[in-house]
Order: sequence, then structure tokens, then C-alpha cells
Amino acid sequence: MDYPILVLKEGREKSLLQRHPWVFSGAVQKMPKKANNGDIIQVQDHKGRAVGYAFYDPSSQITARVFAFTQTAHDPPLHIDEAFWEAKVQQAFDLRQQHLNFETTNAYRLLHAEGDFLPGIIADAYDKVLVVQLLIKGTELIFPTLEKIFRKLGFSYIFLNVKENVKHLEQLELPKGWVGDTPKLPIIVKENNLLFEIDIENGQKTGFFLDQRENRALLGTYSANKSVLNCFSYTGGFSVYALAAGAKKVDSVDISKTATAICEQVIKLNFEPQDDKLTRHKAIAADCFDYLKALPAESYDVIILDPPAFAKSKKAVQRAARGYVSLNELGFKKVKKGGIVFTFSCSGSVDRDLFRKMVFSAAAAAKREVRIIAQLTQPLDHPVNIYHPEGEYLKGLVLYVE
Ligand code: SAH
Repeated sequence: MDYPILVLKEGREKSLLQRHPWVFSGAVQKMPKKANNGDIIQVQDHKGRAVGYAFYDPSSQITARVFAFTQTAHDPPLHIDEAFWEAKVQQAFDLRQQHLNFETTNAYRLLHAEGDFLPGIIADAYDKVLVVQLLIKGTELIFPTLEKIFRKLGFSYIFLNVKENVKHLEQLELPKGWVGDTPKLPIIVKENNLLFEIDIENGQKTGFFLDQRENRALLGTYSANKSVLNCFSYTGGFSVYALAAGAKKVDSVDISKTATAICEQVIKLNFEPQDDKLTRHKAIAADCFDYLKALPAESYDVIILDPPAFAKSKKAVQRAARGYVSLNELGFKKVKKGGIVFTFSCSGSVDRDLFRKMVFSAAAAAKREVRIIAQLTQPLDHPVNIYHPEGEYLKGLVLYVE
């Protein structure tokens, strides 16, 4: 099949030849004729040599997102049909099947956009339920095909989660909601044999923060007999691991009352009513900055700081930096001598070095001795395409504070 053709300016094919999947508007010599938002197009260099196939988005700064690169000039034209998309989804599924332990965990990210060579879509699996987030028109147009593929893989229930701002920007038309049958709610999943209730319809992200799975398990190893403060606790991910590992006290603080209510549920799901772990836990609906400020110095053995993305864009980085510095400064002041701080940033526009500098400034302002004892990131079901470093967004530091 012939696809509309986008021609690049001379020299602007370089990053694409290195498999970076984005065509920025400034790199375009000639826009495709007769192509609409979301259509599949072919990208060519200025000499008319094929570079790859992409989803077209004329009103975005990223005019095209490449999902298949042309290897050589002799490549036959690509046939983009159901089997093509199925092979891509299968490739993503195989990675998870091979390297996640499905006996202890049945919640994972199946598709991580560019990280799985499929730009414009995220799909999180909660046992037999798949929550799909469409990020561009291109993936909306192929959604009927993707739906068939997901069902073949064994997902009985599919929820389309459309964020309002994306819907507007990308002119998405499919409504948020269940596609086909609705399962019995709420959905309970297993993560490292701990249980979590997932708020699919109204929760944040796709209902759960799957990207912290391994970091939560690591937190457990620091928690036995400790007092733990989980800031920005959402539905209590880190708290459950701390209690399961024998923490003597765990406080979960989140500004959302819905989140703290589910957090309490989640604790009850995991521990028997007679278990004194229940009495060691408290869920508190409060602003974490206020909560931390009101604490006496050196209050907890372990403090987790996992705030939402303070910088949603490059422009917002400076203001966000002040937020990260003051939050971490508070964390350092309120942790005991010889204590541990787990600190994170999930802002894509704050890179690892910048995050570390912010934490450095916070440590200096708190006048504490601080050493990095582990550096954390996102797990294997949120893979980073090596040619697309923008896909690495989660950064964490485990700090030993004296
Ligand atoms: N650590 C969690 C995920 C945290 S997501 C986990 O492992 O599941 C960030 C959370 O911060 C959200 O639940 C959001 O409600 C909460 N939040 C945002 N601003 C806040 C604030 N100022 N104070 C407290 N919580 C806040």
C-alpha cells in the first residue's frame, strides 16, 4: 500500500537514522499531501529515500512518530496490517512473560509507548483487565485492531482511559469507559504477593503506579522495626511493603481523601483483623508539605518522598525545582540520625543529573550529612528504548542521612 509522503529537510534524517522516533516540525521540508491527523505516512529524506513509517500529527511539534524504520534502500514497502500490529504487541508481551514473575505479580505495564516501539499508547494490565491510554490520534484510529489483539492475548475487559487535555489536543473521539463488558469491581491484583485494590474508573494514572514495584520491594528491606513516613502515599503502595516487612509504625500521607480511603482498604486486604500490623498503620489526608513542616525534627527512621510530577514541561522546570528542593529539605530535617530517605522524581523534563543537584541543594540547606546508597529507576515493564532517552522518566535516590 502507498502511504502519503513527508519529506525531511537535508540533514534532518540523521536522528532518525539513529532510530530516534520523532520528526519535529522544524525538520519537515514538505508535509504529506492528503493526510489527516493520525494517518500513517512514510517519512523520506530530501533525496526521496525511505526512512520509516509514522503516525502523522500536523498540529503537534512532533509532526510524526515513527513506529517502523526502513533498514535499507532495498526494503520492500511495509505492509501495515493486523499481523504487523500483533507482532509488535506480542514483542512487548514476550518481554514481560520472560522477565516478570507472573506467579507473584499480575499487574504490569504491557505497552510503554516508544519504549515498546509503539508511540502514542500506554496499556496497563491488571490481571484480565487492560487499561488503555491513547495519547495520539494515530493509535485511536488503529484501536479496533488493537482491541482484537488484546482480546486474543487473554484480556477479557478493556477500559479506555482518555485524559481530558489529551482528548482536546489530539482531537480524540472515543469516550472514556469500558469497551464491551464491565468486570466485577473493584479489581484486586497481586504485586509481589501483596494485594492492591485498583480504582480503574476514577483513579490516578491508569489506577495504580506500577512503575514503583521494585522500589517498593526495596523499601521493605529497610523497614523492619522502623518508623516509616510514606509521603504522597496514594493507595499505600510503599506502606504495605513496609508493614509486611515488620515496620513498627507506618504513616501514609496523601492529599486525596479517595486515595487515603482506598489505602486503608488495601491495608485491611493484606493483614488479618487480629494482626497488630493494622494498628501500626495510619492513613492521613493532608498536604505533605504542611504535614512535614508541622513535625518535630528527626521524627521518623525512614521517609519516602514520591510526589507527582512537579514539572510537566521544560518551561515549568525552574518552578518545579523549588518544589523538589523544599520538599527534600523537609525530608532531611525530619528523618532521624542514621535514617533513610527514599526520594523520587517522575518529571520527564527533570533529568537524573538535575534531580541529583536539587537533592544536593536540599541536603546542604538542611545541614545534614547525606550519602547516596542506591540509585533507582523504572522497572522492566517500563522499558527505555535506547535511541529514545526521553522515555526514562523515573529517578530515585536512597539516601543515608546522619
Ligand atoms: N507512591 C505512590 C504514588 C504517588 S503518586 C505509590 O507507590 O502508589 C502522587 C500522589 O501525590 C497522588 O496520590 C496525589 O494525590 C498526591 N499529592 C499530590 N499533591 C500532594 C500534596 N501537596 N500533598 C500530599 N499529597 C499530594
